[in-house]
Amino acid sequence: MPRSSELRTYYKKRDFSKTKEPRGQKHKGAGHRFVIHEHHATRLHFDLRLEAEGVLKSWAVPKGPSMNPHDKHLAVMVEDHPIEYGRFEGAIPEGEYGAGEVRIWDKGTYEEIGDPLVDQIRAGKITILLHGKKLNGEFHMVEMHGRAEDEGKRNWLLFKHKDEYADEDWTMKPILDYGSRSQAPQQKKKKETQKNALKRLLKASKSRTRRTA
Ligand code: MN
Repeated sequence: MPRSSELRTYYKKRDFSKTKEPRGQKHKGAGHRFVIHEHHATRLHFDLRLEAEGVLKSWAVPKGPSMNPHDKHLAVMVEDHPIEYGRFEGAIPEGEYGAGEVRIWDKGTYEEIGDPLVDQIRAGKITILLHGKKLNGEFHMVEMHGRAEDEGKRNWLLFKHKDEYADEDWTMKPILDYGSRSQAPQQKKKKETQKNALKRLLKASKSRTRRTA
């Protein structure tokens, strides 16, 4: 984890001739956007991104955020992403870093409670107020001690503060109907609706003439 916000690692991990992810650049200004990406990579996870120092500070959250204050979910800090990434949705091609579908699961703005976000990150303790469509109210992030599995990555716990927005019955609902890229065909089949089955049959009959085997 570099000490100051920068995009070097972000660029190093990606081939922009292959992926449609934005190259972007470090910005000036002090915006306070937040984005949660739903990312169907090898494993489904959610990426929490908070704007600070002209970039998006980013965490991969395997189970995603929760409005239930009893859920304390692992959040692995990853490389800073450009502000432009906040608008990105689509498929990262097979063979590229993070290959799989990406959707914006939620977005909005955040407020720091206390020190500026970068100082809170440095201190390993974050309290923010989210103003999103799905996520609202106060959230905490606390850095876990001990050596991270991957050097340069820091492990945190993300959890909802008990406030008027907290919901103990809350469940995560992904936008796309499959758990991960690798499970997609199997799960899709299971959840196939009659309408989709009909579509598939029609498509199959249309392409039958083109088939050689
Ligand atoms: Mn991701």
